[in-house]
This record gives sequence, C-alpha cells and structure tokens, in this order.
Amino acid sequence: MTEKIFWKDPYQTHLETRVTSVNDDVVTLKETIFYALSGGQESDSGSIEGFPVMEARKNGKEIFYSLPEDHGLATGDPVKVEIDWDRRYKLMRLHFAAEIVLELMYRQLSGSTKVGAHISDEKARIDFEWGESISGILPEIGKDAKKIIDANAIIISRFSDEVTERRYWEVDGFARVPCGGTHLKRTGEVGEIKLKRKNIGKGKERVEIFLE
Ligand SMILES: [Zn+2]
Repeated sequence: MTEKIFWKDPYQTHLETRVTSVNDDVVTLKETIFYALSGGQESDSGSIEGFPVMEARKNGKEIFYSLPEDHGLATGDPVKVEIDWDRRYKLMRLHFAAEIVLELMYRQLSGSTKVGAHISDEKARIDFEWGESISGILPEIGKDAKKIIDANAIIISRFSDEVTERRYWEVDGFARVPCGGTHLKRTGEVGEIKLKRKNIGKGKERVEIFLE
C-alpha cells in the first residue's frame, strides 16, 4: 500500500521512492507525495521519473498513476517524484478556505446540507441545499472567515483511525472536522479570499471562493 507522505508532510515537493507495480501505463509507488482527487480536492500535477502523470486515481487505499505508454518503468525501479508546488499550494489554500467557510455556513444555516464541493487551483465551490438566497449572510461569513485566517491559528491534521486512513483537521476553539485532504499548517496561509454567491437552481445555493 502506498504510504501517503502528503499527509505526513503536505509541503514536500520531491520524493525518491520505488515502483511497486506496473500494469501497462499504470504504476503504483512505495510512497507518494502526489495527491489523487478525493474529497473534492483535485489531483496534483507533476511527474514520476520525468514522465508526466496523466491521471492519479485513488481506489481504496491505493493510488494509481497513469503515465505515457512508453514509460518503460518496471517494478522495483527507483523513481523521482515531483509535484507542481505552485498548484498544490493554491489547492491547499483554497481547500482550507472552503473548510472555514463551510464550517461557518453550517453555523449560520442550521439544518443545511452540503451537496457538493470542488477545489481547483483557481477557485473552490461549495453547494448547499438551502431554500433562499444566502447573499444576505455572505458578508458576515466573509468577515468571520477573515478573523480566523488573521488569527493565524495552528491547524492540526491527524488520523482518527490509521488503519482505515480516516483523518481530521482541528483548529483549537473553532472546529474539528473529518477530512482526508492536504491541510496547511496555519490558517494565515490562506491569505485574502473573496466569496461569491451563485444561484444554481431550485433549493440550491453555491458559494465560490477565490484567492486574492
Ligand atoms: Zn480538508
């Protein structure tokens, strides 16, 4: 099973490891820093031994990487893994911005349900089931989010169950939330954000989050 270094150290951008299996263009690794789409956070971009990763796919606890067909790698080969840090850091900042906003929304809109979330390196979006426009509460959510970001609080990320790879993040005095994404060390790293409301149809509201 791939050891997920991106949890132990989400700031690591280079890794030397070994190939543990090869199935045509798909390889698995002994350890990895390369995140694969889950929990709405997009996959990293990067390379394995210089070959661009075409797709990273999480299946159970394993992560499968698709490489160009001519990769020529074999099981046991030592490989260098690199990720696009600029992209990953934006994903981490938007991801945590979404965590904060989501938590604040739940408090404001008691009984609301999240029906979707997606984090790219350009924006994060969270969709809720909610019967009316959230325009009115968005400025307050923005202000409260800014307070948490400006406090530059420590973000703890840990396993709640290592065997099943269940994880959570926690900010003391704010929230403790289950999530298997890659998290920042401190809330201040999120920086300035902008919130936008979008009406996406009957009974559903979307919040879009942008980095400034
Ligand atoms: Zn998270």
